[in-house]
Amino acid sequence: MVCRCCNNEVTPVSNGLNNTGIIILVLTVLFCIPLVWLPFVMDSCKKKVCPSCGQEIL
Ligand SMILES: [Zn+2]
Repeated sequence: MVCRCCNNEVTPVSNGLNNTGIIILVLTVLFCIPLVWLPFVMDSCKKKVCPSCGQEIL
């Protein structure tokens, strides 16, 4: 994966939830507390950060 910020070929590191993850987290808290772990295991909900420059990789 190439970082758009520093143009290095990097392996992104996971760092918390992205916007999608936060929305799903809020929805599960409101409507379905037992599924609150869901966004934390879904890869599409995780924020991916460049280990080189620290910018989020989309
Ligand atoms: Zn970078």
